[in-house]
Amino acid sequence: MVSALKDIKNIQDFDLKGKSVFLRLDLNVPIKNGKITDETRLQASVPTIRYCLENGAKLVLASHLGRPKGPEDREGNSLEPIAKRLTELLNVDVELIEDPTSDAPKALLAGIRKNQIILLENLRFDKGEEKNDPELAKTWAEYTDIYINDAFGASHRAHASIVGLPELVSLKGVGFLMAKEIEMLGGLLDEPESPYIAILGGAKVSDKIGVIENLIDRVDSIIIGGAMAYTFLAAQKIPVGKSRVEKDKVRFAGELIERIESRNKKIYLPMDHVISQSFDDEKNAKVTKDVAIPEDWMGLDVGPKTIESYVTVLKKAKTVLWNGPMGVFEKAAFSKGTFALAQALAESSAKTIVGGGDSAAAVNASGYGDKMTHISTGGGASLEFLQGDKLPGLEALRAKRHS
Ligand code: AMP
Repeated sequence: MVSALKDIKNIQDFDLKGKSVFLRLDLNVPIKNGKITDETRLQASVPTIRYCLENGAKLVLASHLGRPKGPEDREGNSLEPIAKRLTELLNVDVELIEDPTSDAPKALLAGIRKNQIILLENLRFDKGEEKNDPELAKTWAEYTDIYINDAFGASHRAHASIVGLPELVSLKGVGFLMAKEIEMLGGLLDEPESPYIAILGGAKVSDKIGVIENLIDRVDSIIIGGAMAYTFLAAQKIPVGKSRVEKDKVRFAGELIERIESRNKKIYLPMDHVISQSFDDEKNAKVTKDVAIPEDWMGLDVGPKTIESYVTVLKKAKTVLWNGPMGVFEKAAFSKGTFALAQALAESSAKTIVGGGDSAAAVNASGYGDKMTHISTGGGASLEFLQGDKLPGLEALRAKRHS
């Protein structure tokens, strides 16, 4: 077991029969015109829901969805499409409770049928959720025998359903998804098998500084791609044209190269690029001869020589963390670097862990998503965990009961 899960109970540690279980999930899925466009998080929640049902729990599911401005902002923010999909997936009646603070769940729980579950409407319709309002947490604690957190993607937020409620409940623990996320990501911090390579890409160096700092002594090599590569190249005085550079991070990038090399580790930077004159101009995209980018051009993907060298390095890896695409993968002309690395990882026997958010989207778009050891369901949560921060949702499961 990884150290982050020490002293935390697992759902399998409880006798659920006849108990009211408040199951906090992350059902924050993208919905367009009432249709769920990516149900990864929903599917990832199913094993814990099924386990609860099979073991005779009386189930209350809860989640947030999007960022509603308040209770009136229902358009596009209701959990209705999710209730419908859960009904299909689980073959149960899902009772969607309009007002999560009302006594309706308590009343329903008293006579709940075997194939019936309760789903609270979007928790963020109540401002108290994001404010970690103790009064709101109390309304849920009143009918909660056991609290289970399976909402990894929301566990970096100190909200009422993530922190306030478990602090009021003595029987509490993680569900299957949360346990897997912490096992997988925690394994990257606790004695990962060497060679351990971190691939870092995406839009900004500034978003990844915390992760780099926390991993610098753990990894053997770092591979850099995406827009953040140009800040590193700028630090080496290499011309990068009008590529995206974070001027205030150039010094940090230069120092980081020195810090990594002083540890006898390697940092790999792009040696050629796919460039164009704008993000939207896929037609005139071309490959540079070498590492320099001409004036008025911008780097939008890593080039073929870079791909070859990165793939060679990755072949030796035993553990890989991937956070951030190698280029603007959303556009075909700039997607080759990201997709080639996804293929290399799919063909490797290394333990391959992919961060959530855009990294998950990129790997799934490559078609190799199902070949990774683990793709995190939490973007912000996975970054915060990997940079060594304690997740409030996890810590609340360790906390003592408040009287
Ligand atoms: P992040 O969320 O930090 O992992 O960033 C992901 C975003 O970075 C994606 O939407 C990519 O399109 C974008 N990105 C990757 N490479 C580049 C690049 N060379 N220039 C601009 N944006 C990029």
